[in-house]
Amino acid sequence: MTLQGSHKIYVTQPALPPLDEFIPYLQQIWASRQLTNSGPFHQQLEQALRDYLGVPHIALFANGTLALVTALQALRITGEVITTPYSFVATAHSLLWNGIKPVFVDIDPDTLNLDPNRIEAAITPHTTAIMPVHCYGHPCDVERIQKIADNYGLKVIYDAAHAFGVHGRDGSILNHGDLSVLSFHATKVFNTFEGGAIVCQDAKTKQRIDHLKNFGFVDEVTVVAPGINGKMSEINAAFGLLQLQGVDTALQKRRAVDARYRRALTGVRGVSCLPVREGRANYAYFPILVGEDFPLSRDGLYEKLRDHDIFARRYFYPLISDFPMYRGMPSAAPANLPVARAAAEQVICLPIYPALTEAEVDLIIGLVAEPLR
Ligand SMILES: *Cc1c(COP(=O)(O)O)cnc(C)c1O
Repeated sequence: MTLQGSHKIYVTQPALPPLDEFIPYLQQIWASRQLTNSGPFHQQLEQALRDYLGVPHIALFANGTLALVTALQALRITGEVITTPYSFVATAHSLLWNGIKPVFVDIDPDTLNLDPNRIEAAITPHTTAIMPVHCYGHPCDVERIQKIADNYGLKVIYDAAHAFGVHGRDGSILNHGDLSVLSFHATKVFNTFEGGAIVCQDAKTKQRIDHLKNFGFVDEVTVVAPGINGKMSEINAAFGLLQLQGVDTALQKRRAVDARYRRALTGVRGVSCLPVREGRANYAYFPILVGEDFPLSRDGLYEKLRDHDIFARRYFYPLISDFPMYRGMPSAAPANLPVARAAAEQVICLPIYPALTEAEVDLIIGLVAEPLR
């Protein structure tokens, strides 16, 4: 059974401001004819995000992947980098784009983030950095990761693509590690259609990043590195400024959806929800793990939802380490990654976005909680 007049429900749907509110921004761009290259909206959005996120420096990018690639360049990372197989493929791809060898380390079964207990065993003389992911916006064990990095002289670059607005015990989670990389892709909690950013802690690093995202230009005639074109355009930056006005409301609505799912699904046999830390999360995703005592297989549930026009996603399946460009690596061996493998076989992310109605959430809950209905 589907809702009356039912439509397709995807895992996410971007929040958009009323179109007429965007027109004045476009008029300003048309008047100034400054379309890109650190124009006024770009500068305003950097300032607004510094304030909103509580970070000292931020450099905007055309997307999160270019920001990851540039973050590695900015810190001159080479050799081997320890990372998680349980993420979106861009995490590891950013290493290959820099000629760096990813070394996959298994995840913690409670958080599905890189397991700090397993990092040290993967360190070799070639290791230069750790690239953890705040998966689903749930914070990594930043203190323990930093301690290991300090002991071995390693850099830490967080793939914080999911972690917009997430706080730890001491303020923004984005202030941990050497750099944190955000994505403002359409599917993320805060979007600029496409976009991304690097958060850094000092002005000198920010300047180096700004050079690297503009071909390595330092001034009109000086190029200091083989930088890329990673700049965010004025249209995306202007849109980001408008989006930022609605982000708190969007987060509250996500939180209500999370709470409704959690209330109804906690205690359903064979379903487990990942715990969130109330007040510090961004409710970017709603992953559930489908266990062996659930009447359907994970894929069975996925297909059942799909038959009802509900397009949940198996994030993150397959594991990055199973894609052809990674699977021959010793660290990609299945025996090295049992927790990640089990999670990839059990996880489904249910739809969560600000415009998802209570009736839609209840429909999804009904299909999950009464699997044989
Ligand atoms: C979305 C995402 C990226 C890539 O960001 P884009 O802006 O789409 O390039 C990188 N890592 C993770 C974990 C992501 O979810």
